[in-house]
Amino acid sequence: MPVMLEIDYDKCTGCGDCVSKCPGQAVSMVEGKPMLARPDNCDYCTNCEEFCPSGAIRAPFEIVMADPGIKGMYTGLMPAVLVLSATSFLTAFVA
Ligand code: SF4
Ligand code: SF4
Repeated sequence: MPVMLEIDYDKCTGCGDCVSKCPGQAVSMVEGKPMLARPDNCDYCTNCEEFCPSGAIRAPFEIVMADPGIKGMYTGLMPAVLVLSATSFLTAFVA
Protein backbone atom coordinates (compact mmCIF):
# COMPACT_ATOMS: atom_id res chain seq x y z
CA MET A 1 0.00 0.00 0.00
CA PRO A 2 1.51 3.35 -0.93
CA VAL A 3 2.10 5.89 1.82
CA MET A 4 0.39 9.14 0.95
CA LEU A 5 1.13 11.84 3.51
CA GLU A 6 -0.15 15.25 2.54
CA ILE A 7 1.87 18.20 3.78
CA ASP A 8 0.63 21.76 3.41
CA TYR A 9 3.85 23.74 3.33
CA ASP A 10 1.94 27.04 3.63
CA LYS A 11 0.67 25.96 7.06
CA CYS A 12 3.83 24.15 8.18
CA THR A 13 5.96 26.12 10.63
CA GLY A 14 8.86 23.67 10.53
CA CYS A 15 8.52 22.83 14.23
CA GLY A 16 9.67 19.24 13.66
CA ASP A 17 7.03 17.62 15.89
CA CYS A 18 6.00 15.23 13.11
CA VAL A 19 9.61 14.07 12.89
CA SER A 20 10.11 13.57 16.62
CA LYS A 21 6.77 11.74 16.99
CA CYS A 22 7.33 9.40 14.04
CA PRO A 23 8.25 5.99 15.51
CA GLY A 24 9.80 4.70 12.31
CA GLN A 25 11.76 7.84 11.41
CA ALA A 26 9.87 7.87 8.14
CA VAL A 27 9.72 11.66 8.20
CA SER A 28 12.83 13.84 8.12
CA MET A 29 13.47 17.55 8.06
CA VAL A 30 14.99 18.79 4.82
CA GLU A 31 15.93 22.46 4.68
CA GLY A 32 13.56 23.21 7.56
CA LYS A 33 10.55 21.34 6.18
CA PRO A 34 9.31 17.76 6.75
CA MET A 35 9.62 15.24 3.98
CA LEU A 36 8.55 11.61 3.80
CA ALA A 37 12.10 10.34 3.44
CA ARG A 38 11.56 6.67 4.27
CA PRO A 39 8.04 5.62 3.22
CA ASP A 40 8.83 1.96 3.86
CA ASN A 41 9.32 2.78 7.55
CA CYS A 42 5.80 4.19 7.94
CA ASP A 43 3.53 1.96 10.02
CA TYR A 44 0.44 4.17 9.51
CA CYS A 45 0.24 5.21 13.17
CA THR A 46 -0.93 8.75 12.18
CA ASN A 47 1.16 10.37 14.95
CA CYS A 48 2.38 12.97 12.49
CA GLU A 49 -1.16 14.17 11.84
CA GLU A 50 -2.21 13.92 15.48
CA PHE A 51 0.69 15.89 16.90
CA CYS A 52 1.06 18.57 14.24
CA PRO A 53 0.13 21.83 16.01
CA SER A 54 -0.67 23.54 12.72
CA GLY A 55 -2.83 20.94 11.05
CA ALA A 56 -0.32 20.95 8.22
CA ILE A 57 0.14 17.22 7.76
CA ARG A 58 -2.47 14.63 6.98
CA ALA A 59 -2.23 10.86 6.79
CA PRO A 60 -5.24 9.89 4.63
CA PHE A 61 -3.98 6.44 3.85
CA GLU A 62 -5.47 4.48 0.99
CA ILE A 63 -7.98 1.78 1.89
CA VAL A 64 -7.39 -1.41 -0.08
CA MET A 65 -10.21 -3.94 -0.32
CA ALA A 66 -9.43 -7.59 0.32
CA ASP A 67 -8.96 -9.81 -2.69
CA PRO A 68 -12.43 -11.18 -3.56
CA GLY A 69 -10.73 -14.53 -4.31
CA ILE A 70 -9.99 -14.91 -0.59
CA LYS A 71 -13.68 -14.51 0.26
CA GLY A 72 -14.63 -17.08 -2.38
CA MET A 73 -12.09 -19.53 -1.00
CA TYR A 74 -13.38 -18.94 2.54
CA THR A 75 -17.05 -19.46 1.64
CA GLY A 76 -16.08 -22.58 -0.31
CA LEU A 77 -14.15 -24.03 2.62
CA MET A 78 -16.73 -23.40 5.33
CA PRO A 79 -19.32 -25.99 4.15
CA ALA A 80 -16.55 -28.59 3.82
CA VAL A 81 -15.34 -27.86 7.36
CA LEU A 82 -18.89 -28.11 8.72
CA VAL A 83 -19.53 -31.43 6.95
CA LEU A 84 -16.24 -32.88 8.20
CA SER A 85 -16.97 -31.69 11.76
CA ALA A 86 -20.47 -33.21 11.72
CA THR A 87 -19.14 -36.46 10.29
CA SER A 88 -16.42 -36.69 12.95
CA PHE A 89 -18.94 -35.97 15.70
CA LEU A 90 -21.40 -38.61 14.50
CA THR A 91 -18.63 -41.17 14.05
CA ALA A 92 -17.43 -40.60 17.61
CA PHE A 93 -20.98 -40.64 18.97
CA VAL A 94 -21.93 -43.90 17.23
CA ALA A 95 -18.67 -45.68 18.08
S1 SF4 B 1 1.90 7.79 10.05
FE1 SF4 B 1 3.26 7.39 11.81
S2 SF4 B 1 4.93 6.15 10.96
FE2 SF4 B 1 3.87 7.12 9.23
S3 SF4 B 1 4.98 9.01 8.80
FE3 SF4 B 1 3.30 9.53 10.21
S4 SF4 B 1 4.19 9.38 12.28
FE4 SF4 B 1 5.56 8.32 10.85
S1 SF4 C 1 4.44 18.98 12.94
FE1 SF4 C 1 3.29 20.14 11.39
S2 SF4 C 1 4.07 22.24 11.51
FE2 SF4 C 1 5.55 20.91 12.56
S3 SF4 C 1 7.07 20.37 10.97
FE3 SF4 C 1 5.52 18.75 10.95
S4 SF4 C 1 4.01 19.39 9.41
FE4 SF4 C 1 5.25 21.19 9.91
